[in-house]
Amino acid sequence: MTSDSNPLQASAVTPDADATWQTDVRAGVRHAGDLVSLPLSPAERAAAQEAAANHKVRIPKAYLDLIDWNDPADPIRLQVIPQPEELVEHEGELDDPIADHGFSPVPRLTHRHADRVLLFPTYQCAVYCRFCFRKESLTSIGRGFSREALEPAFAYIAEHPEIREVILTGGDPLSLPDKALVEIRTRIEAIAHVRLLRIHTRVPVALPSRVTAGLVSALEGRLMVTVVTHFNHPREITNATEMACRTLRQAGFVLLNQSVLLKGVNDTVEVLEELCRELMYRLGVKPYYLHHGDLARGMAHRRTTIAQGQTLAEALRARLSGICNPVYVLDLPEGGGKVPLGPCYVEARDGENWRIRGLDGEVRGYREVVET
Ligand SMILES: *Cc1c(COP(=O)(O)O)cnc(C)c1O
Ligand code: SF4
Repeated sequence: MTSDSNPLQASAVTPDADATWQTDVRAGVRHAGDLVSLPLSPAERAAAQEAAANHKVRIPKAYLDLIDWNDPADPIRLQVIPQPEELVEHEGELDDPIADHGFSPVPRLTHRHADRVLLFPTYQCAVYCRFCFRKESLTSIGRGFSREALEPAFAYIAEHPEIREVILTGGDPLSLPDKALVEIRTRIEAIAHVRLLRIHTRVPVALPSRVTAGLVSALEGRLMVTVVTHFNHPREITNATEMACRTLRQAGFVLLNQSVLLKGVNDTVEVLEELCRELMYRLGVKPYYLHHGDLARGMAHRRTTIAQGQTLAEALRARLSGICNPVYVLDLPEGGGKVPLGPCYVEARDGENWRIRGLDGEVRGYREVVET
């Protein structure tokens, strides 16, 4: 396979299950030129080509079909259709908001926490999200999978016994063909100290037909497998996404979800509450993180303030069961890692005497009693 091949436009002869998702890809938006056939607003139409030059455009048909074109603020539309505001960059926005590159000892690998690494097998995605914090990498690197490119990363993991978890991210690892996934999984599981394979993906959301029996068996092996999906809005939860998640769960994979807090898309307590409940109760996907918007370029119009995020996180904590409740985090620039931004219930402390606010809003005293 060459480094430029696009797996999403792959091979002529395929089994039926693969034909289904490949049709879904072909019938969708594959590049900026395809946008002209959509009922865009005049402002979107004017911005489309320039915005697409900054960040690629790709939308599978299944995801495109979720858009209600009568609603200019449709939450699916705002995630994938280039918006004129993207062209406005603000002071303080960054190319590499969470310092992936600063912690990269070898190409295609980021090692910031001792026990886990990020591995980037591809910089392509099934869908390109306008708010992506890696959009600069996706645009400038723009390469697909190549076996040779990953060799230094595999060697690095083998030489570092402290690494227990390998996180496939990108790009979207599940945009790769089954054969490539088998190869990557086999190489990783041959390294005895690795325990868990984690996959960060939007495929179950945007291209659920890609979750085939072949995909599942490509991932099954010695390692515990965790699939971290990326649902941002309850409207993304459909019969098709439900079926994809069921297939992954039945394989015994642990399913988690991370969402990005996006102004105008999911920045109300009602939307987030429904999203988190339906993720857990309908899809069997545990809400893991709610990310504060990263400092990706041209995304000021989608970011909330941290104070707004904290208010939402506190309301969720009061309304949702523990298993439905995500942790609100900020991935600090310069590689500070993901830190929880609250809610925080501690109001004051005087020695062993604490003042702590309850979920009902009332502040109570709590005195520590420990053996001294
Ligand atoms: C997000 C991230 C991880 C995973 O962090 P968890 O808190 O375990 O989900 C690991 N390495 C890097 C560099 C990351 O950015
Ligand atoms: S799928 Fe993930 S990596 Fe790809 S554009 Fe969307 S957020 Fe970025």
